[in-house]
Amino acid sequence: MNSQRAYPKSFSFELFPPKTEAAELALKNTVEQLRQINPSYCSVTFGAGGSTREKTFETVVNIQDDMGIACAPHISCIASTHSHIREMLDAYKDRGIKRIVALRGDMPSGMLTTGELRYANELVAFIRQETGKYFHIEVAGYPEVHPQAANAEKDLLNFKRKVEAGADSVVTQYFYNAESYFRFIDDCEKQGIDIPIVPGIMPITNYTQLARFSELCGADIPRWIRKRLEFFGDDRASIRAFGVDVVSTLCRRLLEQGAPGLHFYTLNQAEATLAIWKNISEMENSPAC
Ligand code: FAD
Repeated sequence: MNSQRAYPKSFSFELFPPKTEAAELALKNTVEQLRQINPSYCSVTFGAGGSTREKTFETVVNIQDDMGIACAPHISCIASTHSHIREMLDAYKDRGIKRIVALRGDMPSGMLTTGELRYANELVAFIRQETGKYFHIEVAGYPEVHPQAANAEKDLLNFKRKVEAGADSVVTQYFYNAESYFRFIDDCEKQGIDIPIVPGIMPITNYTQLARFSELCGADIPRWIRKRLEFFGDDRASIRAFGVDVVSTLCRRLLEQGAPGLHFYTLNQAEATLAIWKNISEMENSPAC
């Protein structure tokens, strides 16, 4: 874990593009509240379909221009072409966006061709080829192993390809087992991977939704957490209180052991992230202060 202590701490949060005017207003309010965490940047997710792609662009530009917070679009290469990606890179450069989260993405339902770039390492290489060092490139890391990987070792070697292609830093998939992150960092160190690997943090607010996401992305909800969440049933207040407690403990432990910051998956809600932030701020020598 020692390699990670050397990096400055980065706190950031993820949003998704709003679909309605009301959701747009609510998102502005969320971002205003999340200013408190003094974010290094925020990021906006991306869907491979046409309209969501434009929404990501609008949201990123609005946040950076109107709210003055550095904002990074996610870009995925699945079902896309070199020329589409080139267009997006040019558009973001024109608007002064300096950071990108580069992903392969998942195949949207109804789409049949995988596109011209197969994996995220090819996307990172393409961005570097087209724009040199202009963008700070984040990539995804999987402490609990990507669900489609043949095995953990191959997944790590594939992850290394993204770093070698020119990634500057990493945001991980969320996890609730701190050990999986520590082990991942140790494995990365053995491979000579020496860039910041920031844990992705998913606050727990809604068990049904969390179980669905976790099933899709391969994140493990440990039995002791699952059993308690199941027991709470529709009691949202208890789920939130328990979730804030569990996730705050996880965050504290990660920071104490040298994690170079935290990236919150907010799902466009500020409340749980801020409650966790408050708890982190109360740590002795808190990096959040
Ligand atoms: P890759 O790094 O390409 O890996 C995908 C799989 O292929 C892995 O199993 C890997 O082991 C294997 N692999 C990689 N490279 C090679 C290679 N060269 N040869 C053979 N096998 C290889 N999805 C969205 O659609 N939109 C988003 O905005 C979005 N944001 C995300 C943000 C974060 C921080 C994270 C962690 C995930 C996000 N995702 C998003 C989900 C992500 O798109 C999926 O997890 C996707 O399945 C993999 O994307 P990747 O960039 O990690 O792919």
